[in-house]
Amino acid sequence: MSTMVQRRNTRQRQLVMDVVRELHDHPTADEVYLKAREVDARISRGTVYRNLALLSEEGDLLSVRIGGANHYDHNTGPHAHAVCASCGRVVDVPLDAATAQTLAKSAATLTGYEISACDLTFSGLCPDCQQGRQDAVSA
Ligand SMILES: [Zn+2]
Ligand SMILES: [Zn+2]
Repeated sequence: MSTMVQRRNTRQRQLVMDVVRELHDHPTADEVYLKAREVDARISRGTVYRNLALLSEEGDLLSVRIGGANHYDHNTGPHAHAVCASCGRVVDVPLDAATAQTLAKSAATLTGYEISACDLTFSGLCPDCQQGRQDAVSA
């Protein structure tokens, strides 16, 4: 029985990972849960949340706090984010290494801190919201 449970856990864990990768737009835990349920109707909210926590603990996913909510990111490399103030969409901002280093260096100089990570979020209006989205169909 324990092998059954183990296999089930691995499968659910893989499903959670796949969903985050597939959504690739920094889903919240709830969004991951809803999508995972389309694939496996029996998966519970608790299972999804637990796997998300595990995956980010182990560094397979990044847990980022954006706009007051926790989002999950399959891109675990250093990068910044841009969040839409209107629809809340989050995209990656691929900062080049030199820019990231310059920012980290300035932060270190200005504060005396030894900088180990940088969590940078820009906010504004995404291209869709700039257009007003009159023709967009929302489900
Ligand atoms: Zn938007
Ligand atoms: Zn990201």
